[in-house]
Amino acid sequence: MNVNECHEQLVEYQNILAEKFKIEKDIEEKPKVVEARIETVKKLKKQCVDQMDRVKELEQKVFECQKEIMNLYDQQKGDDKAKVIKKDGEPDKERTVVSDKEAKYRQEIFKNQKIISELNQDIEKSQMSISELEREISVEQNRLDGELEKLKAEVVRLSEEEKKIIPDMDPTFKYKFERIVKNKEGLGIVTVTEGHCDGCYLVLPPEFVNKIRAGKEVQYCPNCSRILYWSENSQGIFSFDDSEDDDDYFDNDK
Ligand SMILES: [Zn+2]
Repeated sequence: MNVNECHEQLVEYQNILAEKFKIEKDIEEKPKVVEARIETVKKLKKQCVDQMDRVKELEQKVFECQKEIMNLYDQQKGDDKAKVIKKDGEPDKERTVVSDKEAKYRQEIFKNQKIISELNQDIEKSQMSISELEREISVEQNRLDGELEKLKAEVVRLSEEEKKIIPDMDPTFKYKFERIVKNKEGLGIVTVTEGHCDGCYLVLPPEFVNKIRAGKEVQYCPNCSRILYWSENSQGIFSFDDSEDDDDYFDNDK
């Protein structure tokens, strides 16, 4: 393949590839914003479920404390009946113990009810955020679906164009070329100007420049790996006749 003869096609191919890669990157990146929001909703929902479980647990505790207080009352009623028969006049130690116990249960109920109320407020807030986020996600997802559809259609169109430009390109070269264009931000083929690579400005040895000029095989810049070609502007101090067989300055086994 003589790159010098077909560099225009390769540049055109490169431009299509660069556009295609940019779009493919967009297709990959664009859904990430929505995905992150979906993740946030998932976390909020999980948090709500945990908080609801905690509320249930605390409500059960409150219920048990209330039951204990009722038991205390029942117990006291029984004791009072017994005391009618007994003689009084002694300090009522039992009654003090009962009211201490009741106070503790009431304290426990108060504490738990306060936590329950705070948790319920949090749950309510989270549920509002979830609804709001879900609404936004739904709108965003619809917009994104439309956008992605257009981008995918554009990729198909570019791939068709690609085939027209390079209908019979060697698959190995095609693969390699695509990788160079991808890795070099859309610039995979460059010319040689006054003996240096136009991609990375490395000064190339004259023998190598002559090989590029001859165009018998594809030459890659030893520094930036871009494909090099010879154009009218390539003339300069380093152009020589390529009649003699040059030594391999670079180990180009491609
Ligand atoms: Zn280079």
